[in-house]
Amino acid sequence: MMENQQKIDRFKSDVLSLCINSSKQFNQYKEYFSFLKESLHNYFGMEDCILLKVDGLRLNHLNDEKEQFLFNTQLTLKSFENYLGGEKIVNLPNFLKEMEYFENHTSMMLLQIDDQLEGILLFKYKNTNEPSYSNLSEELIDGIAFVFNFLVQSYNVKLNEQKFQKLYNMTDLFHSTMDIDVILENVLITIEENFPQLEVELILSNDQDRQTRIRIKQFDYLSERPSTIESFVSGELKEDEDTELDYRLLNAPIKGRQAIYGILQVKAPLAYTFTATEKEFIRMLAQVSGNSLENAKLYHQSHRLISDLQLINETSHRLNMKLSINEMLLFLQTQLLKSFQPMEIGFLFKEGETFEMTEARTAIFNTEAGQVYIQHVQQHFETTQDSLFIADFSRLLSEDIQYKSIMAIPMIVEEKINGFSIVLHEDPYFFSFDSFKLMQSLIHHSSLAISNSILREKLQEMVDRDHLTKLFARSYSDTYVEKSIDKDDSGMFLLIDIDNFKRVNDTYGHQVGDGILMQIGSQLQQEIGTRGICSRWGGEELAIYIPNILDHEALKISNEIVDIIPRVTNPTVTISAGMITWNKSNRPDFQEIFLQADTALYSAKHNGKNRVCVFEDTMQLQS
Ligand code: GH3
Ligand code: MG
Ligand code: MG
Repeated sequence: MMENQQKIDRFKSDVLSLCINSSKQFNQYKEYFSFLKESLHNYFGMEDCILLKVDGLRLNHLNDEKEQFLFNTQLTLKSFENYLGGEKIVNLPNFLKEMEYFENHTSMMLLQIDDQLEGILLFKYKNTNEPSYSNLSEELIDGIAFVFNFLVQSYNVKLNEQKFQKLYNMTDLFHSTMDIDVILENVLITIEENFPQLEVELILSNDQDRQTRIRIKQFDYLSERPSTIESFVSGELKEDEDTELDYRLLNAPIKGRQAIYGILQVKAPLAYTFTATEKEFIRMLAQVSGNSLENAKLYHQSHRLISDLQLINETSHRLNMKLSINEMLLFLQTQLLKSFQPMEIGFLFKEGETFEMTEARTAIFNTEAGQVYIQHVQQHFETTQDSLFIADFSRLLSEDIQYKSIMAIPMIVEEKINGFSIVLHEDPYFFSFDSFKLMQSLIHHSSLAISNSILREKLQEMVDRDHLTKLFARSYSDTYVEKSIDKDDSGMFLLIDIDNFKRVNDTYGHQVGDGILMQIGSQLQQEIGTRGICSRWGGEELAIYIPNILDHEALKISNEIVDIIPRVTNPTVTISAGMITWNKSNRPDFQEIFLQADTALYSAKHNGKNRVCVFEDTMQLQS
């Protein structure tokens, strides 16, 4: 039988060799403790040793990490309060005996350094006859406490080293990727690896425009817990207990240099206490991910900015190419569809007091259903020139509505709203704020070009039209006819002169004469529609030109016109007309057309007026 002193010496020597070899021999710290257990068993007859380490307010099981959680939830430093300051070895307290896990143990050794409890050793004696504690001197207990402490410290260093190595590796990875998904995914993986028993959640704000594979919760001011909001606002770690639901939360802000992007939330059972090291680890992890997230966001932002600028540049460039207003709007429509993927799009311009829809529009705006959106936007622009961004239109209305997301941007020229562009999507929150800003920028850059184009077209219209009859002017008609002779297969020209108009003027006055010209003008317009053009040839002479028409049809139309004029004029007048037709087998010179029509008209006058004459080669040309 080994002497006590000898046992103590052997134990010390074992421990010494353990210390010397600590960094070489054992990779797994568990092995240190099983070595320690073995020595305790060999020299002092202790069996089934369980080592509990004080970690903040919590006691951690050191022999077996897998069991750690069992203890985390059940044993706290508070449970052992009554034993401090007394004997260092005592019989197993009743509350431990009652736990199934300790049914084999009989004794408990309190391991203290400088009166501070560092750990607890639970054990039973191999041989129950063994004199209780007599062979365990004060010196030995202190020795065990010292060794224990030394190992725990090395263990902590090693553990931290591992944790921070992970953090380092992650930081390294984060610096090498601009993929936000990869960053977020790794934050979750790292936390889950380090705290396999706890639940983790990523709560991110302002990220609605991102599609991600990672499970992310949207930060919602209305439903988050106060501690989460507090952490988000203050940028500090916040802990929170929910005694009703029996859990505690640790909120770590995902913080970059410019903003806080969300919260990394770790959920633990209520009895769990986060140690200072754990908190620091989680805080640092959240911080690292915040910085990386910010870098990635800035990177993507700068890319987006470049493509946005390219888009604006390309658009401005195209719009300055003197396109017609329709071409311009159709081009803008394509750009907006490409950039924002709306389901519906429309452009409206102010006509007097209301906004009128242009051709550049999608199906919904042809229907009554489209009016709800238009009216809302129109009302909005009655009081302000600010663009409109609605994330969920259904919240503003009591009735059911198809499109929830709306953006409407005014076209402002010289501080007045000229018109607006509207885009719609069925999903609420579909358009991001970035899209809104970009659309604003696009419309802003296009407004001037569009309004110039409208002015240009109005000016052209003024040049092209006769202001009394609203028919085209002669110059426009000339060009139209000339082009048609070049490109079309056939055509008719009808020259009209009011009969005895001088007499009408003399009888009723010039103003009534003007009225008759207007009546005839609008009747001709109605007869011809878009088939051809009507023009004021000069004075009381009007003309009609219709391309691609057969002779008999031309004659029919001409006769109808001559027939109807006396019935639609008041005071009633008749007209005479000279008609010519042509076809591609004999393309005429456009001067020739006018001369021939004039000759035919002359013939109509000479043959009793109120009739049409078709030009024939036998007629004497008027000059
Ligand atoms: P005819 O049947 O031979 O065509 O007889 P007419 O009286 O119509 O012919 P004439 O050429 O002698 O007179 C044309 C008249 O048309 C003279 C002019 O006062 C009138 N006139 C021309 N332009 C206008 C116009 O813009 N407004 C009015 N009220 N009268 C016009
Ligand atoms: Mg005349
Ligand atoms: Mg006349």
